[in-house]
Amino acid sequence: MVSQQIQEKYAELALRTGVNLQKGQALMINSSIEGADFTKIVAKKAYELGAKDVHINWGDDDLTLWKYQYAPDEVIGEFPEWRVKLHDMYAEDGAAVLSIRSTNPDLLKDIDPTKVAKANKAAAQAMTNFRKYTMNDKITWSIISIPTGDWAQKIFPDKSREDAIASLWEAIIKIVRVDQEDPIKAWDEHNETLKTAREVLNDKNYKKLVFKAPGTDLEMELPEGHIWKGGSAVSEKGITFNPNMPTEEVFSMPHKYGVNGTVSSTKPLNYGGSLIDNFTLTFKDGKVVDFKAEQGEDTLKHLLETDEGASRLGEIALVPHESPVSQSGLLFYNTLFDENASCHVALGKAYPTNVKGGSAMSDEELDKAGVNDSLTHVDFMFGSEQLDIDGVKADGTTEAVFRNGTWALDIKNK
Ligand code: ZN
Ligand code: ZN
Repeated sequence: MVSQQIQEKYAELALRTGVNLQKGQALMINSSIEGADFTKIVAKKAYELGAKDVHINWGDDDLTLWKYQYAPDEVIGEFPEWRVKLHDMYAEDGAAVLSIRSTNPDLLKDIDPTKVAKANKAAAQAMTNFRKYTMNDKITWSIISIPTGDWAQKIFPDKSREDAIASLWEAIIKIVRVDQEDPIKAWDEHNETLKTAREVLNDKNYKKLVFKAPGTDLEMELPEGHIWKGGSAVSEKGITFNPNMPTEEVFSMPHKYGVNGTVSSTKPLNYGGSLIDNFTLTFKDGKVVDFKAEQGEDTLKHLLETDEGASRLGEIALVPHESPVSQSGLLFYNTLFDENASCHVALGKAYPTNVKGGSAMSDEELDKAGVNDSLTHVDFMFGSEQLDIDGVKADGTTEAVFRNGTWALDIKNK
């Protein structure tokens, strides 16, 4: 087990650099019962830092699974009003929201994907208002992870439960830089690097990106006024926070009608507890017109059919192949980690903040600007050390952005 001291360092990092909790602010935490020890460390630290109230939404993998197994369909397809109100009330009060994720990636593998899709859709519909708070950075929010037994043993199948948990703790601590003397300072420096990368890309203002790798040959237009983001974000109230820890990406949005060609996944995608693996999507004018998957094709189909926007892209993220997550050599079966090992795109909703003036645009204006909308936003990974990316400027000139999975642009000596 990782020491109490290291867990306290991690908790403090999540509160200061993650959600950047302010004195007198409320904190809402989503966490699992299995992670109660760590979650309580976070809660106590939050009060010490001046939180006025800490509310925890406890979850549990077994309870989630039993609900799918035993509850009648109409219950699965419903999202309780009180839960919506709870989230809206904390958001309206300007609370910070910290999600501590640790789900078993195989939890729902034997559950009918139609049922899972139905539940996911109901939740997404019910939480439309709350999602505006997070996706538009109206409040500060952050997602971190801690190990749980089932998840750890998925990553380290040959180890005992206890050893697997210890190994996963070790990996996470390193990846989130908590093994360093001063993790908060380490994150300040890391955020600076990501800032330089996004500034270089914003200066370039590419009209189009072209991706080439085995199984991938994709042309992606970027909307006029697109913005590259990455690392820390700034909330509406001007508070700097880190939505994801770890994060190694700079990201923007593809034009919802401007994606053509084929992209192949390079890592399995854990979607709502089911795995989709070795899949290929073919796009025409932004929409998926063909797809296949070696594993989880049904789940992929349901994901694409969530709504109109689920078969279009809402995010493009660039991650160099030598990121600490990639260097760990581990496959986490968890998007928070795996997406930070690899270039990825997301099916579904785009972050309106990735285009100039996007947060204030109406749905029609967003559509016109090429900003995709959907109930869903699901990242999947297509980066590898074989990925090359070219950037095409407005005048048609082309230059290398990535070669062999890493930066070809000079982002270190801007
Ligand atoms: Zn991303
Ligand atoms: Zn994403």
